[in-house]
Amino acid sequence: MEIRYQSTRSSGENVTASQAILKGLADDGGLFVPTSIPKLSTSLENIAKMSYQETAYEVMKQFLTDFTEDELKNCINRAYDGKFDTEEIAPLVEKDGVYYLELFHGATIAFKDMALSILPHLLTTSAKKNEISNQIVILTATSGDTGKAALAGFADVEGTSIIVFYPKNGVSKIQELQMVTQKGANTSVVGITGNFDDAQSGVKAMFGNKELAKIMNEKGYQFSSANSINIGRLVPQVVYYVYSYTRLLAQGAIQNGETVNFVVPTGNFGNILAAFYAKNMGIPVGKLICASNENKVLFDFFETGVYDRNREFILTTSPSMDILISSNLERLIYKIAGENAEVTADLMGALASNGKYTITAEMKEEMKDFVGGWAGENQTADEIKRVYDACGYVMDTHTAVASAVYHKYKEKTNDSTKTIIASTASPYKFASSVMTAIDKKYNGMDDFALIDELCKTSGTKIPNAVEELRSAAVLHNTVCDTADMQKTVEKILELN
Ligand SMILES: *Cc1c(COP(=O)(O)O)cnc(C)c1O
Repeated sequence: MEIRYQSTRSSGENVTASQAILKGLADDGGLFVPTSIPKLSTSLENIAKMSYQETAYEVMKQFLTDFTEDELKNCINRAYDGKFDTEEIAPLVEKDGVYYLELFHGATIAFKDMALSILPHLLTTSAKKNEISNQIVILTATSGDTGKAALAGFADVEGTSIIVFYPKNGVSKIQELQMVTQKGANTSVVGITGNFDDAQSGVKAMFGNKELAKIMNEKGYQFSSANSINIGRLVPQVVYYVYSYTRLLAQGAIQNGETVNFVVPTGNFGNILAAFYAKNMGIPVGKLICASNENKVLFDFFETGVYDRNREFILTTSPSMDILISSNLERLIYKIAGENAEVTADLMGALASNGKYTITAEMKEEMKDFVGGWAGENQTADEIKRVYDACGYVMDTHTAVASAVYHKYKEKTNDSTKTIIASTASPYKFASSVMTAIDKKYNGMDDFALIDELCKTSGTKIPNAVEELRSAAVLHNTVCDTADMQKTVEKILELN
């Protein structure tokens, strides 16, 4: 069955998967959603025998129906190769009575690699299929991890260039170093004086600027997005939920049909939405537990049905979740509104003008698969220490938010369903917060000294992505005001 993609904000025309990937955002500012979420076309027992790459093909072919088998397999094989430090790609590790799905074994040691190592290939394939001759300019806002993963994915990919905006004072030292040392003639990295929401709003404004699009086109450029609003990010993320469920099946840890819970540390709502899509494809899922840090706008939303971003933006030790506008929630809103674009457009309009909207009781009822939870800074640090003391496993701050939220949920509900926690970053990426959580004596120590301590403490190998930063040269040092983001792009592309 052909799957097409339509905007969450108008029910007019729809486009093919490759066109949706190329455009990123729909013309009306909405997000592309599949006209229906496809089911898996083979049994879970069969998938349990497949490799990660084979599983990826089974899942993605159902969504990207205008790609040929060759095209899709080619993208998959170029993405999930030796850039990952394990053949399993996304290993499932049992510790302390739960399963941690480690999504950080790619080139930049955060889960963004899972999708961003394949997106450049999906995008260049889509351009060929649609006879696009413009150079594709990837414009990305990052809260820290997307930027580096996108830079690594697109660096020196022919026919593309990439510009990344990040909040100058809102990312970890290692995250910043990873970005500003990025090689590749087609890469640009810009710090902004605002926070992540400012960066994301600035990027969205450029995408919606028709005047700018026209000038770009005359110069042989067009924008696309590597943010999780792009359906080409979301679809590859569905894969590891299917993969992790079928690994448990293969190990005999669960019976076929037995439900599992997923706990996902959430920011922009892309990762957990992929879990929801996996459930809709046929994976038996009990609860989808959405874990927030102190920026708990999603927790409040699941409790009350009111989404309200009018609150202080808090910088935490899990910076990739410091977000008050969770873009991908729009796709869930569309679904629970009965796929009603008008209702979705109204709610998103209210969010843009008042920073707030309220859903109906019926819509709230449609979200009952989801449970919201949150963990504060102390709880997050305590969870890192608790699990380390219990079994020697060292997790990063984002994963610790999810782990803390899960244990609070379990205590409250006594739900004994087997549970998979998405482990979204390597502890090496946040060595300072992680080591200080384990022992206060590390407070204030140099990042690279802490990396060596982390290596000793956890008994794990220092990832290459971190090792190479010790001597890498800083290649990007542009900083601009939030208001000047477009000017900066015009300068980089020499539009004037
Ligand atoms: C991006 C990110 C998240 C949040 O994922 P979303 O898809 O934005 O909800 C969580 N943890 C880490 C380490 C990340 O990089």
